[in-house]
Amino acid sequence: MDHREADRPCLTSASLAKHFSRTFDSSSIEARRQAKQAAHCPTCYLPWRWCICPGVTPIPCPLQVDVLMHHREMHRPSSTGHLIHRAVAGSRFHLWRRERWSSADEIRIPNKELWILHPSGRPMPLDAHPERIHLLLLDGSWPESTDMARSVTSWGKLINLPMTGQSRFWLRAQQEGDRFSTMEALLFVLGALGLESIRQPLFAQFELLVYASLRSRGRKLKALEFLAGSCLPHAMPEMVRMLHRDGDPQKYPSLRCASPNAPTT
Ligand SMILES: [Zn+2]
Repeated sequence: MDHREADRPCLTSASLAKHFSRTFDSSSIEARRQAKQAAHCPTCYLPWRWCICPGVTPIPCPLQVDVLMHHREMHRPSSTGHLIHRAVAGSRFHLWRRERWSSADEIRIPNKELWILHPSGRPMPLDAHPERIHLLLLDGSWPESTDMARSVTSWGKLINLPMTGQSRFWLRAQQEGDRFSTMEALLFVLGALGLESIRQPLFAQFELLVYASLRSRGRKLKALEFLAGSCLPHAMPEMVRMLHRDGDPQKYPSLRCASPNAPTT
């Protein structure tokens, strides 16, 4: 027998079944992906039932805030970088891929000082003027942010901001202890600059994201525990009432985004 013949794969009924099952698997994966997209808000990435978009309001901020997001963070519903970009008026969004960025030339703004939060940085200047600050926030998982930080430390002034207390970001195990989310880092900066009128409404929107995300994951008891220590019932009573409404959210247009097709970046 020709040895090439022997090497040729044998199309047995078992191998054909395997091939077609792969075909059906890939199409069912695509179907599942489409079904998931249809069931989720394309703006906040949460299921429609727990969409937070009606509670997200852009807030004017004197300092320039930019989010540099790791590409793997892009479609994580728990990302606070997306919320920062939506809730801080005038903020900018940049997607991080190591091969994409070699300098900060595309990010720097004339007459503003680029700040990057980093443990090895200097304490925040006491006489800092918010209008002159350009804050670059690194958004990704803890290892991703650490990796990004290695590449961007030469881009600007490294600032070490004391962040104390317990994180309220109850969505990722990495946030336990003294590790804070990107939004919480921004909240610490705003607090240190005395910008309470901006910090408080941003904090409420952050709490809304965490609460709705816990509910969307079916962690009702954990969510109610979170809500018991949250500013949400006082800061956004109407939003909490709407989220607690029973039934199909499709029946309640007020729960849906004003602009479902709004771009995410
Ligand atoms: Zn939404």
